[in-house]
Amino acid sequence: MVRTEQLVKCFGSNVVLDGVDFTVDRGQVVVVIGPSGSGKTTLLRCLNHLEKIDGGRIYIDGQLVGYREKNGKLIEDSEANIALMRSQVGFVFQRFNLFAHKTALQNIIEAPIQVQHRPKDEVIEQAHELLRKVGLSEKADAYPHRLSGGQQQRVAIARALAMNPKLMLFDEATSALDPELVGEVLAVMRQLAEEGMTMVVVTHEMGFARDVADHVVFMDKAQIVEQGPPQQIFNDTQNERTRKFLGRVL
Ligand code: ATP
Repeated sequence: MVRTEQLVKCFGSNVVLDGVDFTVDRGQVVVVIGPSGSGKTTLLRCLNHLEKIDGGRIYIDGQLVGYREKNGKLIEDSEANIALMRSQVGFVFQRFNLFAHKTALQNIIEAPIQVQHRPKDEVIEQAHELLRKVGLSEKADAYPHRLSGGQQQRVAIARALAMNPKLMLFDEATSALDPELVGEVLAVMRQLAEEGMTMVVVTHEMGFARDVADHVVFMDKAQIVEQGPPQQIFNDTQNERTRKFLGRVL
């Protein structure tokens, strides 16, 4: 469903992704781990073209992301096509980025109505269902400042799901939370995984990676160093760099 081929991304002279081949199958949960600065967030941002790439190709469902090919060269795609692609990919950020002046419900219904032009009644009904799913049925009319960080992040997840995405990207979705609030957000992510959502999750939560991932990707210094099932990465790695990293974080 997602495939990158020799993906290269630089910030000035800093090569942040150095020939990354990354694949996600439909229904798979891929967890990306690695030291700070290894390129994990940048990889996610490239997947929905929040960053322009400097080399290689990204495909979602066989479609080039962010670019089209002309005479063997890549040129950036139209804004309309990029917006269409983004509407099919949910992105959950470390910071929740809810609209402060809108209630939980209003946050969730905004994009399906404004971007997808779906009927308001249908969208509101779905929003209530999603609030139930993330355990916040009682909070439909609450403004973000009246919600805890964990509740805000769950609204952010519901908001992403309201677009009926075929792929969900999570960028350190629990890193900004107080430790006692991390579990409730991970539980929602775990439930989504069990329901078969295709997910790419960048996280420092090794327990989640071990329990929920179908496939773990370890990145270091702009490259994928090792990847495989959690069992291989966490229990059986033969790779010195993976071992060293896990020794520091476990
Ligand atoms: P962390 O776990 O700390 O979030 P990461 O593995 O997600 O780290 P990235 O955020 O992808 O790493 O950053 C990779 C490198 O790219 C770092 O050296 C970072 O400083 C650099 N970088 C990221 N975004 C930008 C930007 N907008 N401009 C310049 N450099 C950037």
